[in-house]
Amino acid sequence: MPPVNRSVKRVVRGVPQRNAATLPLLAQPKALIAYVATVVALEVVLAGYLLVHTPIRVSELVLFAAVLACGAACVEAIRRLGMPAGVVRDLLSAWWLPVALLLPSIYALLAPIPLYALLQLRVRRTLVFRRVLNAAAIGLSGAAAGVVFRWFVPEPLGNPSAWLGDGRSLMAAVGCGVLFAVTSTALVAVAAYSATPELRWRDVLWDGESLLLDLVELCVGVLVTLVCAMSTLLIAVTLPPVILLQRSLLHQQLQAAARTDPKTGLLNAPAWQREADAEIARALRGDEDLSVLIVDIDHFKRVNDAHGHLVGDQVLVGVATMLTHQLREYDLVGRFGGEEFVVLLPKADLAEACRVAERLRNQVARMVLPAEGPATVAVTISVGVALLRAHGRDLIELLAAADLALYQAKDAGRDRVSVPAQPTAADRALVDRPAQAPSLRWRLAGEREDMA
Ligand code: GH3
Ligand code: MG
Ligand code: MG
Repeated sequence: MPPVNRSVKRVVRGVPQRNAATLPLLAQPKALIAYVATVVALEVVLAGYLLVHTPIRVSELVLFAAVLACGAACVEAIRRLGMPAGVVRDLLSAWWLPVALLLPSIYALLAPIPLYALLQLRVRRTLVFRRVLNAAAIGLSGAAAGVVFRWFVPEPLGNPSAWLGDGRSLMAAVGCGVLFAVTSTALVAVAAYSATPELRWRDVLWDGESLLLDLVELCVGVLVTLVCAMSTLLIAVTLPPVILLQRSLLHQQLQAAARTDPKTGLLNAPAWQREADAEIARALRGDEDLSVLIVDIDHFKRVNDAHGHLVGDQVLVGVATMLTHQLREYDLVGRFGGEEFVVLLPKADLAEACRVAERLRNQVARMVLPAEGPATVAVTISVGVALLRAHGRDLIELLAAADLALYQAKDAGRDRVSVPAQPTAADRALVDRPAQAPSLRWRLAGEREDMA
């Protein structure tokens, strides 16, 4: 895996799954096709040229084989732990950097090929063009970082003691590690952006957690490089700690994936409920306002019927992305099921909640999403709003009230925001009488059981 941050990978492999996981490269936007073709062609041409022009040295071949063996051991360790969709960070970058800095450029260009093939065959099959693009990005970035490094240290394997004790050379190694991370991130980020131009660059590039992981990957890569420079044999000493670190990294991501709806990247229903419960308790303790919205796409079945489920999925992703972009950092957005989303707005009174809901409705109505060929698809949403205390004192009551308001919005013609007509009485009646809103009652009961 490249040292590319999580959001980039999420984008390229997952979240804005425009033409999602099953469609091949040719179904992607033209800009993306052209970009992937250019990057891959550059890698192939450069590798072909260097393959012919690089003299073979046994010591370099031995180090290359040792690094690949360690990389393969890491891939195998990932396979044992499992790597479902949503888990996108591994620690393979530990092995790219020693190859890039210590060996001639051809090795940097070749190294990702067998390891990515192994990932594809042994761990998880994903779109081939994504793997190929990632491999080319790693190869080209490694080659570039290596060229710069060898400008400071021309023969890194020749006389390691000379540069391992020299502060300037060590700084160059760290700097080239950073260059490698930045270049490979940028190469993949451009692909993410061409796939989904409505993404903000800030989202495509960095978030705090990813930056920390990038730093870990960089440090591990630099350490492995220094150890390998001392002696190829010592690479064996680096393998167990790298695998252990990788395991904890994957474990952390598995936990995060368990909270996330894989299709939209939003919180899934149980995770949203857990966090919403905590927010409501906090608001009650602190005597603060809080509102809940239920957002339902209007006539979504017609989108599926007219354009197919894949386009339907893209609409879901588009609406989810729009909701996230329109809301504040501390608002909770989740996918409750099908084409229904839930939003919790801390510190929002009814007027503010209705303003937010109205803005969401407006923005969604303006979205035009690509369907097959030149066709486009537009949708509207209906939103039910409920306010803490006025419409309920716990999550079940609030959701029941918001659901009731949603039914009213649908009844009134859709594409509108609604608050419960008779807040408290209707709310209680709804929770007590399942016949009025069986879906909500069953859904809540089911999810409560899931959580237990
Ligand atoms: P309304 O305006 O009353 O909400 O009508 P609707 O068509 O949106 O609602 P309905 O409940 O009749 O249909 C919801 C549809 O959403 C049916 C189901 O096939 C579709 N759906 C649920 N989950 C997914 C999904 O993950 N992907 C896709 N593409 N469709 C989904
Ligand atoms: Mg609907
Ligand atoms: Mg619905």
